[in-house]
Amino acid sequence: MLYWGVVKALYQVLCDDGVYPELIYRVATNGDLVNDDYVRFANSIPGWLTTISWHDGSISESQWPVLRRLDRCLITGLVTSRWRDEIPAMRDKYESLGLSLPVQLWPVHLVGQCSEEDKLTAKSVDDALAYIQSLVANPQDRFSAVLRKSIIVHASRRGRERPDCGDDSVITVDLHGREYLCQHNPLPETLSSHRLMSRAENIRTGCRECVAWDHCGGGCFLTSNRKAECRFYRGYVQLGRSLNETAS
Ligand code: SF4
Repeated sequence: MLYWGVVKALYQVLCDDGVYPELIYRVATNGDLVNDDYVRFANSIPGWLTTISWHDGSISESQWPVLRRLDRCLITGLVTSRWRDEIPAMRDKYESLGLSLPVQLWPVHLVGQCSEEDKLTAKSVDDALAYIQSLVANPQDRFSAVLRKSIIVHASRRGRERPDCGDDSVITVDLHGREYLCQHNPLPETLSSHRLMSRAENIRTGCRECVAWDHCGGGCFLTSNRKAECRFYRGYVQLGRSLNETAS
C-alpha cells in the first residue's frame, strides 16, 4: 500500500487521542498495493474494514490471494451509464477468479473529476436496476448471490441518525493528511465548511422522508447529478426490501 506508513501513523495518533475504539475505520483502496503487513494489521483491529474499489483499476490476479486473506473486506463497483459493459464484465471476472468476497454497487457520484460519459440518466438507472434485479431475483452464480445478500442487508438498515457526509461525525483523511468531511468530493475548493454545512441542513429537511434515508443518509448531495443518483438509491433500497419480503 503506497502510503501504508501514513495510515499506520494516523491510526496511532487516533489511539493516542483516545478516539479508537469509539470510531470504526474504513480504508478505501484500489487493492493493488495491499500487502501481508497490511493484512495482518487490518485483521488485528475489530471494525477495520477495507473496501476494494473494483472500478479504480484492474487488480492483478496475483494480488487476489492477498486480498482474500482480509477478514473484513468489501468489493465496491460503480454503476455508471456504461453499466451494460461494466457490470457483466465485473461479474465474469469475479466468477472466473472464484471470489466470494461481499460486493456492493453504488451509483457514480458525478463530481468535477468524473467523465460526462459516466453520467446516469433516469433511463440508464431504470435499465441498470432491472438488470440487477434479474441477477439477484434467482441468483445463478456466486456474484449474483453475494450481491443479493448485500442489497438485502443494506436495505434492512434502520435508524440512521445523521447523514454520512453532512456533519462532523465522519472524517476522511487523505494520504497527505488532509481532512475532509466527505470522501465523495475531496477537492479543497468545494469543501468550504460553510457551504457543506448549509447543504447538509437542506438534506436533513429534504431527505428525511426518503425511502433510502437509512441507507443513503443524504449521501448524494455533493453530486451534480443528484436526481438520477437518488433514483438509483431509492430503486436499490426498494429492490432490497422486496427481496427481503419474498425471502421471509
Ligand atoms: S436517495 Fe437522495 S433523497 Fe434519498 S436520502 Fe439519498 S440523497 Fe436524500
